[in-house]
Parts: sequence; structure tokens; C-alpha cells
Amino acid sequence: MRFRALVVEKDADGSTAASVQSLALDRLPAAEVTVAVEYSTLNYKDGLCLGPGGGLVRAWPHVPGIDFAGTVEASTDPRYRPGDKVVLTGWRVGEAHWGGYAQKARVRADWLVPLPEGLTTRTAMAVGTAGFTAMLAVMALEDHGLTPARGEVLVTGAAGGVGSVATALLAHLGYRVAAATGRPETADYLKSLGASRIVPRADLAETVKRPLEAETWAGCIDAVGGAMLARVLGQLKYGASVAAVGLAGGAALPASVIPFLLRGVNLLGIDSVMRPYADRVRAWERIASDLPQGKLVAMIHPATLADLPALGALILKGQVQGRVVVDVNA
Ligand code: NDP
Repeated sequence: MRFRALVVEKDADGSTAASVQSLALDRLPAAEVTVAVEYSTLNYKDGLCLGPGGGLVRAWPHVPGIDFAGTVEASTDPRYRPGDKVVLTGWRVGEAHWGGYAQKARVRADWLVPLPEGLTTRTAMAVGTAGFTAMLAVMALEDHGLTPARGEVLVTGAAGGVGSVATALLAHLGYRVAAATGRPETADYLKSLGASRIVPRADLAETVKRPLEAETWAGCIDAVGGAMLARVLGQLKYGASVAAVGLAGGAALPASVIPFLLRGVNLLGIDSVMRPYADRVRAWERIASDLPQGKLVAMIHPATLADLPALGALILKGQVQGRVVVDVNA
């Protein structure tokens, strides 16, 4: 029994190369549940693992793909039976463990989540880690008091994966969404997802000397980090929160503590990788109920395993719009 997979190999000189290969089933890592993968996706982290250099990968040959959805084929764990539809994000699958860029995956039962009612394996991968993380960010903001009546919510890196899903989710929940993007040509796309206005990236990119600016945002989902996150802190309304999700613009945070002290703002860290099971189930159920499927489908760029090396390079340059969905059987 063989299956096709995108395999990344590393040469003696340290350079990596990815190719679609046919592998024997016994090459899969040991774990409780074997899944016939149907769809995977592309996240920023996948771009890092695809190369050059292999990013977060420590052992080669490697099968990347931090997310997948499919059907259980075999399981030694009583929680899963053949035929069950499942979704996986995080747990360092695709980095430290072989991932979803393959027709088969073998993973620990603890890492899986049953596919929620209302989602297909394809729409679950249009969501993927990016959308799951956007949902976690919305939930964190709500837990800290955000309601549509509090005012406008900012989404940074809006045309990317996290940003696109965050924009659609918030708009569907009744929020006014300001979408910050460095790509003005995505304005129509962002408005179609529900953004009520577009904020040019340049307006938020410069650091300012003043730690406090006009109170503008009732909340923020930030995929960019760096100087932009520092700037947003000084523009939050009294008591408002920013959910820090990503670092597309940099990991350093050149910020002042003044907004915390004088405006009681909150900086909420969002991790999707090690998130406990109960939170995962809650987030996936919210995704199934709160994310408009039509908008999700509009974000999809279909791809095959063979397309991934080129797409990985594009996502590292911030040039992928919306969500790539990989049909591993195409
Ligand atoms: P994408 O590449 O799809 O989106 C990132 C977006 O950020 C880009 O589309 C672009 O948006 C903007 N951007 C890119 N480069 C810069 C820059 N130099 N300065 C300012 N803005 C920039 O990636 P994802 O949406 O998949 O991930 C976004 C971030 O979130 C990544 O840093 C990722 O590692 C992180 N992440 C974290 C998770 C967690 O668990 N905390 C889970 C998932 C992702 P635009 O063109 O609209 O400006």
C-alpha cells in the first residue's frame, strides 16, 4: 500500500528541496490514528517548513503541512473509528511530526478534533490554523468585554489568512471592521468579506513618539506585530484589548507601558498550537456557526501538492491572499 506525499529533503550542503513522491505506508510515523487526508492548506508556518532551509523542521526527510482534514482509516484509540471525519491543527504536526501534505497521515488521537457539523473537510481547510486562530482571537476579545456596541474593531494583515477569516467573522457577528492592509488592490476583496473601511498599512507602520493617540479601536486582531502592534496599543479605547496573533511585520515590540497604565488596555496572547482540547472543540463549533460559508468559499485558492513549494515562497513574502486549500488527491 503506497501513498503520495510532498517530501522535503535536505542536502549535505544544508539546502532543501521538495518533491511529490510515492511512499510505502510503513514510512508513516508510529501513532494511534491513521487518516486518509482529503484536504490540507497553507499557513505562514508551512512556508517556513517548505524552505529554504526547512525552517522549524529538525529531521529529514520530512512531510510538511500543519493542518489537515480527512477520514479515519484505522485507529487503536476508542475515541475514533474508521469513517469518522476529523480535523487537525497544531501540536507541531508538520514541523516535528509528519503532516498533512500527503494522502495519509498517522497522528496521536489526542491531537484530533471531530469535524463539526456544518463543515466539510474542504471548508475546514479553508479555515485551517489561520481561521482557527482568528476564531480564538475573537473569543479572547469577547471574553474581555468586546461587543459590537463598543465601536470599530481593527484587523491588521487583513488580506492574509488570519486577517481574512477575522474580518469575515467579525463582520458576520455585527462588528464594524477596519481592515489594515499593505495591498490597496485587495480593498474590494476585503469589503466583500465585510470590512467597512480600509486602513493603509503605512498609516500604522511608523512608530510615533507619543505613547497615546486618539482612542480609536474598540478592539484589534493583530497578525503583524512589531511597530504596528506598538502603535495600535496607543490607539485603543479605554479598557479595550488587542489579540496578538502574529509577527508578519516583526517580533520586536517597540512599545510604551503608558497605554496599559492610563487606559487600562489589554494585550492578549493567542496560541493555537498547544491549545487544550476543550477550547478547540468550542472554537470549531463557533466557526461552524459564525463563519459565513459563502465568504469562506470566496477566500479559497485551490492548489495541489505540486503547487506548494512555489506557494510557500509566496506566503513568506506576504503575497498570498485569503486561504489556499490543497486537494491532496488531485
Ligand atoms: P499570511 O501571510 O496569509 O498573512 C500575513 C499578512 O500580514 C499578509 O498577508 C500581509 O497582509 C501582512 N504583512 C506581511 N508582511 C508584512 C510586513 N512586513 N509588515 C506589515 N504587514 C505585513 O499569514 P497568516 O495569516 O497565515 O499568518 C499571519 C501571522 O500569524 C504570521 O506571523 C503567523 O506566523 C501567525 N500565526 C500565529 C498563530 C498562533 O497560534 N499565534 C497561528 C497562525 C498564524 P496585507 O497584505 O493585508 O497587509
